Amino acid sequence: MRSCFLGTGGSWPTRERNVLSIALTHSRNTVLLDCGEGTQRQMIGSPVSPLKIDAIVVTHLHGDHFLGIPGLVQSMSLNGRKRPLMIAGPSSIHASVESSLSSTVFRPGFEVDVREMKDGDRLVVGSLTVRCASVEHGIEALAYRVDAPPRPGFFDRAKAESMGIPQGRLWGDLQRGKTIRSNQGGVDLEVRPEQIVGPARPGLSVVYSGDTLPHGSVAALSRDADALIHEATFSDRHADLARDYLHSTAREAAEIASEAGVGSLFLVHISPRYSAPDLIDEMRKEACEVFPGAIIPSDGECFEIGRRTNKPCKPEDGGAGAVRTCR
Ligand SMILES: [Zn+2]
Repeated sequence: MRSCFLGTGGSWPTRERNVLSIALTHSRNTVLLDCGEGTQRQMIGSPVSPLKIDAIVVTHLHGDHFLGIPGLVQSMSLNGRKRPLMIAGPSSIHASVESSLSSTVFRPGFEVDVREMKDGDRLVVGSLTVRCASVEHGIEALAYRVDAPPRPGFFDRAKAESMGIPQGRLWGDLQRGKTIRSNQGGVDLEVRPEQIVGPARPGLSVVYSGDTLPHGSVAALSRDADALIHEATFSDRHADLARDYLHSTAREAAEIASEAGVGSLFLVHISPRYSAPDLIDEMRKEACEVFPGAIIPSDGECFEIGRRTNKPCKPEDGGAGAVRTCR
């Protein structure tokens, strides 16, 4: 599953960061997590195509998570999109999408399918399952978990070779769960798939907190997820502001990640006040004291999410090509 961080800042766009939007892609399906203003411009030069987005899921209706939708929908339509677009969010999402799309004379050339979500609801987006949980941000706000389907079990190449099964169609049949017959030195051999292929493995999973105070519902939703993308608006030096404005610090996000046992942690929704690199380093160190390897991605960075590991996409895929870890 690929995670592209199109915008990683909170509140308003700055020279360093645009406001929130993250594209999760697995196989042929792409879910956009939040859509701050200017998101379609952030896609330029990235591997994310506006035409290939299946669904936009919105955590809450503060503008920095939502105001990019009318512009993105117009860009999709002007570029020939015909297939429907799903937009999901908290209970007032329908009225907000309706009013934002009707505020110009433009009408999209495709159906916009709006779904209102509440704690515990599920969505199916192609092969992906999206679940949500309520969080604490002073208005109705949701966190989302995106689960990919189970992966095939490990194929034991050494065992297949030792049994004399030739590589090619027969290997493919075993991976597809078929029993095969192979002739070895005039002896007919029947091989069942479970002799060579291990049990199916869980699918990859990513959780996105949206804006929230540190909250047990995010930890519960994130249990054993491969990655948690958590807001970290503030560092320890502004922990009082985090309380006042119902946000999290980097350290608190790391505590949630540690409690949930996730594979990797990405921190986003960085306050515009932290434009200086040393302030970002300070924030990263605070998180890493609790969750080693915490990453604060820059706009445009993409990562391949894997179980217990993550690796950057190649620079030519749009990623910056460097995993940022504790220093
Ligand atoms: Zn907010």
